Amino acid sequence: MLKAYGQDTIYAPATAVGGAIAVIRVSGPRAGEVKDILSADVTRRPRMLLHATVRSGGEVLDDAMAVYFPGPASYTGEDMAELHCHGGFVTVQRVLGALNGLGFRPAEGGEFTKRAFFNGKMDLSQAEAVMDVVTATAEQSLRAAVSQLGGSVSRDIAGAEQVLLDALSGIDAAIDYPEEAEEDAYRDLPGQLDRALAETDRLLKNGRAGRILRDGLRVVILGRPNVGKSSLLNALSGEDRAIVTPLAGTTRDTLDSRIAIDGVPVRLVDTAGLRETGDAVERIGVERARKELDTADLVLCVLDGACPLTGEDRAVLAEAGTRPHLVILNKCDLGRAAGMPEDAVSVSAVTGEGLATLREAIARVAVPQNADAGLITNERQLDALKRAGDAIRSAREAGELECKATDIRTALHCLGEITGTDVDDMVIDRIFSRFCVGK
Ligand code: GDP
Repeated sequence: MLKAYGQDTIYAPATAVGGAIAVIRVSGPRAGEVKDILSADVTRRPRMLLHATVRSGGEVLDDAMAVYFPGPASYTGEDMAELHCHGGFVTVQRVLGALNGLGFRPAEGGEFTKRAFFNGKMDLSQAEAVMDVVTATAEQSLRAAVSQLGGSVSRDIAGAEQVLLDALSGIDAAIDYPEEAEEDAYRDLPGQLDRALAETDRLLKNGRAGRILRDGLRVVILGRPNVGKSSLLNALSGEDRAIVTPLAGTTRDTLDSRIAIDGVPVRLVDTAGLRETGDAVERIGVERARKELDTADLVLCVLDGACPLTGEDRAVLAEAGTRPHLVILNKCDLGRAAGMPEDAVSVSAVTGEGLATLREAIARVAVPQNADAGLITNERQLDALKRAGDAIRSAREAGELECKATDIRTALHCLGEITGTDVDDMVIDRIFSRFCVGK
């Protein structure tokens, strides 16, 4: 379904306004005509950054550098040019005006990458990774996006597709020549379907880690008033976001803090606790806390390690116990009370003791050790992957070869949605509309 794309020649600034240098990109069949507004003919020395003045209507607009990339060996696969001008707003506007004067048009958001996709320079999973690289907020997130951009997800999907295509050709042979091939197909199919399913399940499992790297690990801090939740949040985030006071019940609403822990983006939420209360405002806080708990990737269950456990502490432990959680004994600078849970991390929000261990423990929850390859971070791709897995499971259960073949085709269609070989234009438009102009 890939179609010829890019009849127009487009231009856009690729850098943010106000920098020292502004890079302006041009792509399309007439990109070489930028030479008409430059003092140097960049098309004669492709891929060389040349010094040139930019001129329009007999006037010099800027002293710049320019480079020409003839297609198909360019980002978009089309002829491209880049002008590196001075970054002032007026300069950039005037140079853009000159490009417009050549009959080029402003690019839409993501149009360069969209053209790269349509020209086969990258598949859809890589194109989506371009945006993730640009917007990554933590080191590990960036690593996952760069790996996807390099084709790690595409390769894993291609592996699963190949197994399914083999299965399908076995079925086709069995349907055409039942005497010779039917037995082979029934013998080979279970193994083939298991292999394909193992691959989609692995990618899906890693997908949880991928989502975390993209959107942040959702960590909820839970504990009775005064155990030091706000202090801990402040100590971990290194800023005074929560209000710390010695009065019970001062954290009245949920407080949200975004930090990076060992390269993992983390959204820390401090709650008002879960105690029954007559205070209307506090009750709203408690309801919010419950909602946060239901979507948390990790619950930090904070106890005052220097005080014997109270009934409220036990309720908090029970609440956290049904979810992924870490028990934290705070205030270790004040000593250790008897009867505290064994498998706990001892910290002091005041002296900072134990915080490094706590950070490590949090980061371990986010990124499983074996999750280097094929980390899908994208909801759309995860959804397609899940549907592919369901179709393979259904193929395993189907009795008739024809039914199995139909399910396998559905699975292949879903996998094709991830790489973009089998996806309709509306989906593609929606994906690229999220991109910034110039990308
Ligand atoms: P929250 O109600 O659970 O959010 O508790 P706060 O963070 O408001 O802390 C309650 C009180 O305990 C404050 O007076 C803090 O200064 C104190 N506190 C918190 N963490 C520690 C700690 O690690 N050591 C000591 N000695 N005091 C702490």
